Amino acid sequence: MPDYPVTLTAIKSVLAKHKLAPLKSLGQNFLFDHNTLEKIVNAGSVSDDDLVLEIGPGLGALTWRLAEKARQVVAVEYDRGLFGILQDLFADKPNVALINADFLQVDLDHLFQPWNESAQRFKVVANLPYYITTPLIFKLVESGVRWETMVFLVQKEVADRICAKPGGKEYGTLSVMLNYYGYAEQIGTVSKNVFYPAPQVNSAIVRITPDWERFDPEVYACLQRVVQAAFGQRRKTLLNAFGVLIEDFGGKEALAGFLESSGIDPKRRGETLSVNEFLTVAEGLRSRKQRDMR
Ligand code: SAM
Repeated sequence: MPDYPVTLTAIKSVLAKHKLAPLKSLGQNFLFDHNTLEKIVNAGSVSDDDLVLEIGPGLGALTWRLAEKARQVVAVEYDRGLFGILQDLFADKPNVALINADFLQVDLDHLFQPWNESAQRFKVVANLPYYITTPLIFKLVESGVRWETMVFLVQKEVADRICAKPGGKEYGTLSVMLNYYGYAEQIGTVSKNVFYPAPQVNSAIVRITPDWERFDPEVYACLQRVVQAAFGQRRKTLLNAFGVLIEDFGGKEALAGFLESSGIDPKRRGETLSVNEFLTVAEGLRSRKQRDMR
C-alpha cells in the first residue's frame, strides 16, 4: 500500500478541490505530522487480529495507517463532505468500513455485528473532536464492549485531567472513573502546530487499558453517584457533599460511621480521596443497595 500523502499542502488542496473548509463546529483540526500519526498507531499496538474503531477519520490520515496494520477498521465520520472524500480514498480497501453518522447516536452492538465472530480484539484509536471529548469517552466506557485498549489524541488539559492524581485541581470525575475503569497514561504531548488549522492549545496522546478483572458495572454505577456527589460540591467536606447518599446509608451518623470505619475522615474533601478510597465508598453503597433489595 503506498504511503498516503499527508502534508499541509495536500490537506489544503484536497479541501479546496472539494470546496470544503475545516468546520470549527465539528472540531476539525487535521493532523499532518507523520511522527505523531505513527506514535498514535504504535500506542495502540495495532495488529492483524484487531478490529479498530476510529471516531472522526476526517481526511483519512490516521485511518490509512490503521488499515495497514489492523484486520478491520470501522471509522465513523459525521461530516458528509469529508465522508465523500473518504469513500473515494478507501474504495478498494476492503478492511475499511466507513459509517456516516454522529458517533454519539451510534448503536455499538449493531455497528460491530458483522465482525463480532471474526474480531479477536476490539480497540479504539482516534484523534477526537475536542468539543465532545468527554461524552465520547464515557459512551465508549459505558458501551459494554470489552475494549482491549483505547488510544486518544485529546487536548493536553483533558489528558492532564484523565491522568491526574488526588489533591490537585485537575483531579475530578474523569480521573476517578477512568482510573477505576482501567489504567490511564499519557504517551506524549503533541504541538498545536502539527494540525490544520492549528487549535488554540497543545494536545496529548492518552492510552487507557481497561482492567476487566476489576470492572463491575454495578460498582461503576455506584462509583458514578459517589464521585458526582463529591466533585459536585468540591469545597464541602465529604459528609456534607455526600448529602444525596445519606438515605442509602441509613442516616448521616451511619454514613459518618461507615467512612470512619473505612479509614476515611468525613471532614476531608472529595478531591483528596484516592480512587481506591472512592471505590470503598462505592462498594459500601452497592452492598447496602443489595441488602435493601433482599
Ligand atoms: N482523524 C483526522 C485527523 O487526525 O486528521 C481528523 C480529526 S478531527 C480532530 C475530528 C474529526 O471528527 C473531524 O473529521 C470531524 O468531522 C469528526 N467529528 C466531529 N463530530 C463527530 C461526531 N459526533 N461523530 C463522528 N465524527 C465526528
